[in-house]
Amino acid sequence: MSDCIFCKIANGEIPSSTLYEDENFRVILDLGPATKGHALILPKAHYADLTDIPDELAGKAVSVAKKVVKAMIPALPCDGYNVVQNNGPAAGQTVFHYHVHLIPRYENDHAGILWKPGTLSDEDREEILKKASAAL
Ligand code: 5GP
Ligand code: ZN
Repeated sequence: MSDCIFCKIANGEIPSSTLYEDENFRVILDLGPATKGHALILPKAHYADLTDIPDELAGKAVSVAKKVVKAMIPALPCDGYNVVQNNGPAAGQTVFHYHVHLIPRYENDHAGILWKPGTLSDEDREEILKKASAAL
C-alpha cells in the first residue's frame, strides 16, 4: 500500500522510535500515547485489520506482544498492561493497517480504556448464540 503511513514506518521508509524489530514486525512508540510507554506492533506487510491478517502472523503478533510486555513491565516500570486491537471506525480504528496497542497501566492513571459493564439480557443471549453458532 503506497499511501499507507504504517507500511512506510514498519519498513523503515519513515523514521520511528523503534523498540523492537524482527523479520515480520516493527514495534514503535505511539506518537499520541494513552500512557507513558504506549507502543504499537506493526506487521511489515499490509493487512487492514484482524479479518485480513493471516492466522500465523496474528499468532506471531501475540508472541511479540508477550516479549515486549515482559521487558517493559520492569523497565518502565508499570503496574499492568492493556493489549488492545481496534477494528473498524466504530471501534476506534483510525489507521487501517493492522496494529496492536500495548498500553502500560499505572495505578490511578485514569487512561479511560475500560468500559462500564451492562447487562446480558435473555433475549440478547439467545439471539447472539443462535446467530453466532450458525455463522461459525
Ligand atoms: P487506532 O486508532 O487506529 O487503533 O490507532 C492508531 C494509533 O496510531 C493512535 O494511537 C495514534 O496515536 C498512532 N499514530 C498515528 N499516526 C502515527 C505516526 O505517524 N507515528 C506513530 N508513532 N504513531 C502514530
Ligand atoms: Zn499499510
